[in-house]
Amino acid sequence: MRYLFRLIFILFFIYTQSVFAQKKVPAKQKQTPATVSLTIDSAKWRSDNYIVNRDSAFINPYYALQKLTGGNKRFQQARSIHPRQDPALIKRLSDGQSPFATIVGCSDSRVSGEILFDQGFGDLFVARTAGQVMAEATYATIEYAYLMLGTKLVVVLGHSTCGAVNAAVKAPENPPGHIVALINAIKPAATTVKNMKGDKLENAVRQNVINQVYELRQLESVLSRAYEKGDLLIVGAVYNLASGKVEFLKETLENLPHTNYTKKDITGK
Ligand SMILES: [Zn+2]
Repeated sequence: MRYLFRLIFILFFIYTQSVFAQKKVPAKQKQTPATVSLTIDSAKWRSDNYIVNRDSAFINPYYALQKLTGGNKRFQQARSIHPRQDPALIKRLSDGQSPFATIVGCSDSRVSGEILFDQGFGDLFVARTAGQVMAEATYATIEYAYLMLGTKLVVVLGHSTCGAVNAAVKAPENPPGHIVALINAIKPAATTVKNMKGDKLENAVRQNVINQVYELRQLESVLSRAYEKGDLLIVGAVYNLASGKVEFLKETLENLPHTNYTKKDITGK
């Protein structure tokens, strides 16, 4: 009798599993390949998905900026297309790279440039440290991207509730290990916003990005010259951890040096 019950239970289990498995098939998988090829990459699909031509983005930093803002819009709307991640392209990229933007960002596990800008392999040259604090090797990394790879856009990317900035705002007495290097680098931003209205940490996050943008614009000799001559665009942005939105800071988009590149694409003017 006990075996009979066990057998009935097993049969019932198998039946429910098979019914469940049938229901789990997502609607998307039912699309035929023919339907997909008709929609993807058409002019309408490209404009609906804020696609900017990759070659244009590499040549003109304002198009590069537009490509990043478009990718971030897709990401915010949960419509990421995860471009340039197929095996054929990865193999082709082993011959060389031409990233269209350098991202100087925070090491925070929630601030991955390729994901939040919805870009793929070979698109972004990335330097990350906590609070995107920069040292000699970071400078060299950014210079390398510009000189050797031809990358014309640098984005300093901070983010909301950054732990490193918070440490600088709180300024503990004896920070352990090398943490003091981060705190010392961010401290000037925390001091500037001390008496400002609004959230102390978020104000410091923005000020830290602005300071870092100016640090790079004035960095002798490669970056400062490239920036002054209008060949390299260096801007700052803050990523909101909760909304997924990247806000490019207007303070870093104003009074840019004269350039041969057009900026109407991002400002709309
Ligand atoms: Zn951070």
